[in-house]
Amino acid sequence: MNRFTYTRPGDMAAAVREVAAEPAARIIAGGTNLVDLMKYNVERPARLVDITRLPGLDTIEPTPSGGIRIGALVTNSAVAYDERIGRRYPLLASAILAGASPQLRNAASTGGNLLQRTRCYYFYDPGTGCNKRKPGSGCPAKAGLNRIHAILGTSEHCIATHPSDMCVGLAALEATVRATGSNGDRTIPFEDFHRLPGDHPEIDTTLAHDEIITAVDLPPEDFSAHHTYLKLRDRLSYAFALVSVAAALELDGDRIKTARFALGGVAHKPWRDAMAEQSLRDRPASTDSFAQAADIALTDAKGYGHNDFKISLARQAIVRALAQAAAGTPQSQTDKRIR
Ligand code: SF4
Repeated sequence: MNRFTYTRPGDMAAAVREVAAEPAARIIAGGTNLVDLMKYNVERPARLVDITRLPGLDTIEPTPSGGIRIGALVTNSAVAYDERIGRRYPLLASAILAGASPQLRNAASTGGNLLQRTRCYYFYDPGTGCNKRKPGSGCPAKAGLNRIHAILGTSEHCIATHPSDMCVGLAALEATVRATGSNGDRTIPFEDFHRLPGDHPEIDTTLAHDEIITAVDLPPEDFSAHHTYLKLRDRLSYAFALVSVAAALELDGDRIKTARFALGGVAHKPWRDAMAEQSLRDRPASTDSFAQAADIALTDAKGYGHNDFKISLARQAIVRALAQAAAGTPQSQTDKRIR
């Protein structure tokens, strides 16, 4: 491990200054991903800026518009087991409980969940090339072990996936990320927060180096009546998604008024397809409608060999998740049975 300095600023302005002054600074909160990356020599920060003592970032409170604001330091467990989240945003609670382990969820922060990095094997191995870890060094995953890799939104430079479950739920709910930095405060629609790899796979998000996430806002529309988070993985706990689907519907009888679904495990960011969602509007909530939407969403899907199976798995997962959401029988993430 390389040497680094450690600082624990007392207020947000000081934290922003500490980060802005050092290009190789990293913010640390729960540390559940960053510390692993430091042990593997993937992350080599010159300065760690500990934000865990900053005031005002650890609450869950209503917003003036009727939504809920989750502070950046609220742990994943505290979000998942909050009574208001469970009642109004069970989709989010379910997505969180599908991820990691209780110990990790007790330590991981809301802001950190958004900023966790891919679990691509090559990214974690400094003995190999990897454009995300070392730009220009290649992408061995394309012709290598790519069973867990992306089928949508890839580039010639990177085919990694984003590992978060919580973010897939936040994408379907159309959350907003709040951040502050040297140029002041701003809000970022969740859709615009994570980026595709393109020519710069080393950049995961649109957050500037000197910006710190302060909160995530959930809009008033909660889809509590018709939702599910379906996660398909190699084992039923402590495994990243091969494919996951956060589905949210608003129904009028058996017809669909609003449809949203976000996919996890298939792209560099939680994946939504506006045309696929639009295709469901004013259609009956039927298997045929869901299958057509799945086909639209996966039109451009491309496998790299070991992950070819994800295309058909994603198609089936979309249909099943939308059917569960329509029926009001969301996938349970606590009893671990697949239904
Ligand atoms: Fe690196 Fe991305 Fe290729 Fe994985 S998929 S080896 S993270 S460039």
